[in-house]
Amino acid sequence: MIRIKNVTKTYPNGYVALDNVNLHIGRNEFVYLVGQSGAGKSTLLNMLYKAETPSSGDIYIDNIPLSTISAKQIPFLRRSIGVIFQDYKLLPKRTVYENVAFALRVMHFSRARIRRQVTQVLELVGLQQKMYNMPSELSGGEQQRICIARAIVNNPPVLLADEPTGSLDPETSWEIMQLLSKINSRQTTVVVATHNKSIVDDIRKRVIQVDNGHVVRDEQLGMYNK
Ligand code: ADP
Repeated sequence: MIRIKNVTKTYPNGYVALDNVNLHIGRNEFVYLVGQSGAGKSTLLNMLYKAETPSSGDIYIDNIPLSTISAKQIPFLRRSIGVIFQDYKLLPKRTVYENVAFALRVMHFSRARIRRQVTQVLELVGLQQKMYNMPSELSGGEQQRICIARAIVNNPPVLLADEPTGSLDPETSWEIMQLLSKINSRQTTVVVATHNKSIVDDIRKRVIQVDNGHVVRDEQLGMYNK
Protein backbone atom coordinates (compact mmCIF):
# COMPACT_ATOMS: atom_id res chain seq x y z
CA MET A 1 0.00 0.00 0.00
CA ILE A 2 2.70 2.46 1.09
CA ARG A 3 6.33 1.92 0.11
CA ILE A 4 9.05 4.34 1.11
CA LYS A 5 12.22 3.69 -0.85
CA ASN A 6 15.60 5.24 -0.02
CA VAL A 7 13.96 8.50 1.00
CA THR A 8 16.11 11.37 2.17
CA LYS A 9 14.65 14.78 2.97
CA THR A 10 16.94 17.77 3.19
CA TYR A 11 15.15 21.04 3.92
CA PRO A 12 16.22 24.17 1.98
CA ASN A 13 18.32 25.31 4.96
CA GLY A 14 20.41 22.14 4.61
CA TYR A 15 18.90 20.27 7.56
CA VAL A 16 18.62 16.53 6.88
CA ALA A 17 15.28 15.56 8.48
CA LEU A 18 15.17 12.00 7.07
CA ASP A 19 18.17 9.98 5.98
CA ASN A 20 17.68 7.06 3.60
CA VAL A 21 14.42 5.74 5.04
CA ASN A 22 12.96 2.46 3.76
CA LEU A 23 9.57 1.21 4.90
CA HIS A 24 6.68 -0.88 3.72
CA ILE A 25 3.20 -0.52 5.18
CA GLY A 26 0.74 -3.10 3.95
CA ARG A 27 -2.92 -2.67 3.12
CA ASN A 28 -5.10 -2.39 6.22
CA GLU A 29 -2.19 -2.14 8.62
CA PHE A 30 -2.29 0.09 11.70
CA VAL A 31 1.06 1.71 12.45
CA TYR A 32 2.23 4.00 15.24
CA LEU A 33 5.06 6.33 14.31
CA VAL A 34 6.93 7.22 17.51
CA GLY A 35 10.06 9.17 18.34
CA GLN A 36 11.18 12.34 20.06
CA SER A 37 10.06 15.74 18.91
CA GLY A 38 12.13 16.69 15.88
CA ALA A 39 12.82 13.05 14.95
CA GLY A 40 11.19 13.40 11.52
CA LYS A 41 7.69 11.94 12.03
CA SER A 42 5.74 14.86 10.55
CA THR A 43 8.18 15.13 7.67
CA LEU A 44 7.51 11.48 6.88
CA LEU A 45 3.72 11.85 7.11
CA ASN A 46 3.78 15.06 5.06
CA MET A 47 5.61 13.30 2.25
CA LEU A 48 2.95 10.56 2.09
CA TYR A 49 0.36 13.04 0.84
CA LYS A 50 2.85 15.17 -1.04
CA ALA A 51 2.76 18.17 1.27
CA GLU A 52 6.55 17.73 1.17
CA THR A 53 8.62 15.99 -1.49
CA PRO A 54 11.67 13.79 -0.90
CA SER A 55 15.06 15.21 -1.87
CA SER A 56 15.98 11.75 -3.11
CA GLY A 57 14.27 8.37 -3.22
CA ASP A 58 10.56 7.90 -3.85
CA ILE A 59 7.28 6.97 -2.18
CA TYR A 60 4.79 4.61 -3.78
CA ILE A 61 1.11 4.59 -2.87
CA ASP A 62 -0.58 1.57 -4.42
CA ASN A 63 2.52 1.17 -6.64
CA ILE A 64 2.20 4.72 -7.99
CA PRO A 65 5.42 6.72 -7.50
CA LEU A 66 4.49 10.08 -5.99
CA SER A 67 7.31 11.68 -8.00
CA THR A 68 5.20 11.12 -11.12
CA ILE A 69 2.20 13.00 -9.69
CA SER A 70 2.06 16.57 -10.97
CA ALA A 71 0.88 19.54 -8.96
CA LYS A 72 -2.40 19.40 -10.89
CA GLN A 73 -2.94 15.77 -9.86
CA ILE A 74 -2.31 16.33 -6.13
CA PRO A 75 -6.01 16.95 -5.32
CA PHE A 76 -6.78 13.51 -6.77
CA LEU A 77 -4.06 11.90 -4.64
CA ARG A 78 -5.55 13.60 -1.57
CA ARG A 79 -8.91 11.99 -2.28
CA SER A 80 -7.35 8.65 -1.48
CA ILE A 81 -5.52 9.86 1.64
CA GLY A 82 -7.36 11.34 4.61
CA VAL A 83 -5.30 13.44 7.03
CA ILE A 84 -5.98 14.66 10.57
CA PHE A 85 -3.86 16.88 12.80
CA GLN A 86 -3.46 17.86 16.44
CA ASP A 87 -5.12 21.23 15.80
CA TYR A 88 -8.42 20.56 14.18
CA LYS A 89 -8.39 23.01 11.27
CA LEU A 90 -12.19 23.06 10.98
CA LEU A 91 -13.92 25.90 9.14
CA PRO A 92 -15.14 28.02 12.10
CA LYS A 93 -18.08 29.63 10.30
CA ARG A 94 -19.55 26.43 8.87
CA THR A 95 -21.69 23.87 10.63
CA VAL A 96 -20.44 20.38 11.39
CA TYR A 97 -22.43 19.12 8.41
CA GLU A 98 -20.89 21.68 6.07
CA ASN A 99 -17.37 20.99 7.34
CA VAL A 100 -17.75 17.32 6.48
CA ALA A 101 -19.66 17.91 3.23
CA PHE A 102 -17.11 20.40 1.93
CA ALA A 103 -14.73 17.86 0.36
CA LEU A 104 -17.63 16.15 -1.42
CA ARG A 105 -19.02 19.41 -2.79
CA VAL A 106 -15.67 20.05 -4.46
CA MET A 107 -16.15 16.72 -6.21
CA HIS A 108 -19.58 17.84 -7.47
CA PHE A 109 -21.46 14.91 -5.97
CA SER A 110 -25.27 15.11 -5.97
CA ARG A 111 -26.98 16.59 -2.91
CA ALA A 112 -28.53 13.21 -2.12
CA ARG A 113 -25.19 11.44 -2.26
CA ILE A 114 -23.54 14.10 -0.08
CA ARG A 115 -26.33 13.86 2.47
CA ARG A 116 -26.09 10.07 2.55
CA GLN A 117 -22.30 9.98 2.95
CA VAL A 118 -22.14 12.78 5.53
CA THR A 119 -24.93 11.28 7.62
CA GLN A 120 -23.31 7.85 7.54
CA VAL A 121 -19.90 9.10 8.56
CA LEU A 122 -21.30 11.28 11.36
CA GLU A 123 -23.07 8.20 12.67
CA LEU A 124 -19.80 6.27 12.52
CA VAL A 125 -18.03 8.87 14.67
CA GLY A 126 -21.08 9.17 16.95
CA LEU A 127 -21.94 12.81 16.25
CA GLN A 128 -25.05 12.77 14.08
CA GLN A 129 -26.91 14.75 16.74
CA LYS A 130 -24.39 17.63 16.43
CA MET A 131 -24.81 17.96 12.68
CA TYR A 132 -26.09 21.54 12.81
CA ASN A 133 -23.80 22.80 15.56
CA MET A 134 -20.86 25.10 14.91
CA PRO A 135 -17.34 23.82 15.69
CA SER A 136 -17.00 26.32 18.56
CA GLU A 137 -19.95 24.59 20.28
CA LEU A 138 -18.07 21.28 20.44
CA SER A 139 -15.52 19.88 22.88
CA GLY A 140 -11.97 19.14 21.69
CA GLY A 141 -12.72 15.44 21.39
CA GLU A 142 -15.87 16.16 19.38
CA GLN A 143 -13.95 18.50 17.08
CA GLN A 144 -11.37 15.81 16.47
CA ARG A 145 -14.18 13.34 15.66
CA ILE A 146 -15.48 15.80 13.07
CA CYS A 147 -12.00 16.03 11.57
CA ILE A 148 -11.90 12.25 11.37
CA ALA A 149 -15.34 12.24 9.74
CA ARG A 150 -14.17 14.84 7.23
CA ALA A 151 -11.00 12.86 6.48
CA ILE A 152 -12.81 9.58 5.81
CA VAL A 153 -16.12 10.75 4.34
CA ASN A 154 -15.15 9.54 0.88
CA ASN A 155 -13.70 6.24 2.13
CA PRO A 156 -10.01 6.81 1.39
CA PRO A 157 -7.87 3.66 1.62
CA VAL A 158 -5.32 5.52 3.79
CA LEU A 159 -5.77 7.69 6.90
CA LEU A 160 -2.80 9.65 8.30
CA ALA A 161 -2.94 11.20 11.77
CA ASP A 162 -0.30 13.60 13.11
CA GLU A 163 -0.52 13.75 16.92
CA PRO A 164 -4.33 13.36 16.86
CA THR A 165 -4.57 13.23 20.67
CA GLY A 166 -1.97 15.93 21.35
CA SER A 167 -4.57 18.39 22.68
CA LEU A 168 -6.88 15.92 24.41
CA ASP A 169 -7.25 14.53 27.93
CA PRO A 170 -6.43 10.83 28.51
CA GLU A 171 -10.01 9.54 28.37
CA THR A 172 -10.88 11.44 25.19
CA SER A 173 -7.55 10.39 23.66
CA TRP A 174 -8.48 6.80 24.32
CA GLU A 175 -11.85 7.25 22.60
CA ILE A 176 -10.22 8.87 19.56
CA MET A 177 -7.71 6.01 19.26
CA GLN A 178 -10.52 3.45 19.57
CA LEU A 179 -12.25 5.25 16.74
CA LEU A 180 -9.09 5.12 14.59
CA SER A 181 -8.87 1.41 15.38
CA LYS A 182 -12.48 0.94 14.27
CA ILE A 183 -11.77 2.79 11.01
CA ASN A 184 -8.73 0.56 10.50
CA SER A 185 -10.94 -2.51 10.88
CA ARG A 186 -13.12 -1.14 8.07
CA GLN A 187 -10.26 -1.67 5.64
CA THR A 188 -8.35 1.55 5.96
CA THR A 189 -4.58 1.69 6.37
CA VAL A 190 -3.91 3.95 9.37
CA VAL A 191 -0.62 5.65 10.24
CA VAL A 192 -0.55 7.63 13.51
CA ALA A 193 2.36 9.78 14.67
CA THR A 194 2.03 10.01 18.43
CA HIS A 195 3.71 10.74 21.76
CA ASN A 196 0.92 9.03 23.66
CA LYS A 197 2.83 6.31 25.49
CA SER A 198 -0.11 4.87 27.43
CA ILE A 199 -2.17 4.38 24.26
CA VAL A 200 0.68 2.82 22.28
CA ASP A 201 1.28 0.44 25.19
CA ASP A 202 -2.42 -0.39 25.68
CA ILE A 203 -3.74 -0.60 22.11
CA ARG A 204 -0.89 -2.71 20.76
CA LYS A 205 -0.04 -2.33 17.07
CA ARG A 206 3.02 -2.15 14.85
CA VAL A 207 5.44 0.48 16.17
CA ILE A 208 7.95 2.27 13.94
CA GLN A 209 10.40 4.46 15.82
CA VAL A 210 12.19 7.32 14.12
CA ASP A 211 15.24 8.90 15.69
CA ASN A 212 17.20 11.74 14.18
CA GLY A 213 15.91 11.00 10.66
CA HIS A 214 16.49 7.22 10.84
CA VAL A 215 14.12 4.32 11.41
CA VAL A 216 15.66 2.74 14.49
CA ARG A 217 12.93 0.20 15.37
CA ASP A 218 10.07 -1.56 13.61
CA GLU A 219 8.13 -4.04 15.74
CA GLN A 220 4.81 -5.83 15.38
CA LEU A 221 2.75 -5.28 18.56
CA GLY A 222 5.50 -3.07 19.92
CA MET A 223 5.62 -0.85 23.00
CA TYR A 224 6.26 2.90 23.07
CA ASN A 225 9.78 2.36 24.41
CA LYS A 226 12.23 -0.36 23.45
P1 ADP B 1 8.65 15.44 14.42
O1 ADP B 1 7.36 15.39 13.70
O2 ADP B 1 9.21 14.07 14.73
O3 ADP B 1 8.61 16.30 15.65
P2 ADP B 1 9.54 16.97 12.13
O4 ADP B 1 9.40 16.07 10.98
O5 ADP B 1 8.52 18.03 12.34
O6 ADP B 1 9.74 16.09 13.46
O7 ADP B 1 10.95 17.69 12.04
C1 ADP B 1 12.16 16.98 11.84
C2 ADP B 1 13.32 17.96 11.82
O8 ADP B 1 13.26 18.76 10.64
C3 ADP B 1 13.31 18.93 13.01
O9 ADP B 1 14.64 19.12 13.43
C4 ADP B 1 12.74 20.20 12.42
O10 ADP B 1 13.24 21.33 13.06
C5 ADP B 1 13.22 20.13 10.98
N1 ADP B 1 12.30 20.80 10.06
C6 ADP B 1 10.98 20.58 9.91
N2 ADP B 1 10.45 21.37 8.97
C7 ADP B 1 11.48 22.12 8.50
C8 ADP B 1 11.60 23.14 7.51
N3 ADP B 1 10.54 23.54 6.78
N4 ADP B 1 12.82 23.69 7.30
C9 ADP B 1 13.89 23.29 8.02
N5 ADP B 1 13.86 22.32 8.96
C10 ADP B 1 12.67 21.76 9.21
